[in-house]
Amino acid sequence: MTVTAERTDFAERIRAWLAPRAGEMEAMLEELVNIDSNSFDKAGTDAVGEHIAKLLTAEGITVTRIPKADFGDVFRAEVPGHGQNQHVLMLGHRDTVFAKGTVKTRGYSRQGDMAYGPGVCDMKGGLVANIFALRAIKAVGGLPFPVVALFTSDEEIGSPTGQAEIEAAARGARAVFNTEPGRVSGNVVTGRKGGASFHITVKGRAAHSGVNHKEGASAIEALARKIVRLHALTNYATGVTTNVGVIKGGNTHNTVAPWAEAELDLRFMTLAQRGELIGEIEKIVMAEDVPGTSATLTTKALFLPLEEKNSRALFEVYQKEAATIGFPVEGEFTGGCADSGFTAALGVPTLCGLGPVGGKAHTDDEFCRVDTLLPRTQALAATICALISTGAL
Ligand SMILES: [Zn+2]
Repeated sequence: MTVTAERTDFAERIRAWLAPRAGEMEAMLEELVNIDSNSFDKAGTDAVGEHIAKLLTAEGITVTRIPKADFGDVFRAEVPGHGQNQHVLMLGHRDTVFAKGTVKTRGYSRQGDMAYGPGVCDMKGGLVANIFALRAIKAVGGLPFPVVALFTSDEEIGSPTGQAEIEAAARGARAVFNTEPGRVSGNVVTGRKGGASFHITVKGRAAHSGVNHKEGASAIEALARKIVRLHALTNYATGVTTNVGVIKGGNTHNTVAPWAEAELDLRFMTLAQRGELIGEIEKIVMAEDVPGTSATLTTKALFLPLEEKNSRALFEVYQKEAATIGFPVEGEFTGGCADSGFTAALGVPTLCGLGPVGGKAHTDDEFCRVDTLLPRTQALAATICALISTGAL
C-alpha cells in the first residue's frame, strides 16, 4: 500500500469506528463532569485520572501514573506505533476552577444540544475527545507512529507540576494537539498570548501621621508609584498588557502605611517580549520609589505564548480534514493562556482549541455543544492520521 492509501485507509476506519459512538461519548462526558476536580483537590483530580485510566486500560491501552505530592498525579497513555519513532501528543487537563461540592448542586445537565456543568467544556469535553481518539486509534491496531495522551491536573493554576511533564512529553514530538474548548464561533485556536502573574510586596516604616509623619516611609505611596509605571508598560499595538488587579495595604488612616501588596497580571505575544518585560517589571518593583521602602517580586505562574508560526502548517492539515468531515473552521487568536504555549515554545508544531465547541468557561453558565463532540473528535483523529503522509511541518 502507498503511504497515501495507508493514511486514507486508517482515517476511514477510525472515522467509521467513531461514527456510532456519539451517545457513548456524551455518557462519558456526564461521568467526568460529575466528579468534582478543582486544581487544589488532589483526591478529585486523581479520581478523574483513575476513571480515565480504567476506561483506557479496559481497551488494552497502557496507562502510566506519575505520582505528584501536592497536586493530582499525571497520567500518560500510549498506543505504540509500528515502525516510526516520532510520536504525536494529545494534551488535556483534568482540573477545573470550581470548588469541591459544585457537582452536588450543579451537576451535569442537558437542554437540546447544550450540556452544562462544571468544566463541561473546559475541558472535560476535550478529555472525552482525547480518550475516544485514542480508543479509535487502538481499535484499528495503532498507527505507524506512537500516539501519546497526557492527562494533567493543574492547568488552571499555571501548571506548576504539569509544565515539566508536558515539556518532557512534547520534546521530539511530530505534533501536539490540545483539546481546550473550541471557540463559540466553531473555530480552533492558532495563537495565544503568553502570560504571567506576580505577587508584589512592599515594606515601609510605620509612623503616626500627625505626630511624626516625617519618620514614616509609606509602602502605599511606593506601591502607587510602581502601579503607574507598571500600567504604562501596556501597549495595545504590540499586544502587551499589564494589570494590577488586586491591592491591599496599610493599617489605619492615621498611620503611615508599613506594608502594601499587589497582584499583577502580564500578557505578551512573543517569547522575545517576555524577557524584556520581566526585566522592566523587576526594575520597577525593586526601585526605592519612596526612601526607606523596599519591595519583593514573586512569580506565581508563567504561561508561554502559542505563536502562529508554530501552528500554521498543522492548522492547514486540520482545516482540510474538517472539511472532509463536514464542518468549516478557521484559526482564531485569543489572549487566554494554556499549556499549548509550553509545547509551541519548544518549536513543536502545536494546535489548540480542538475540543468540542463551548463557552462561558469559568462561570456557572459554562456550556458545551454536545453535537460537536463527535465531528471534532473525528477531525482530531483524522488530522493525526494525515501526519502519516505529511512531511515535516
Ligand atoms: Zn482549560
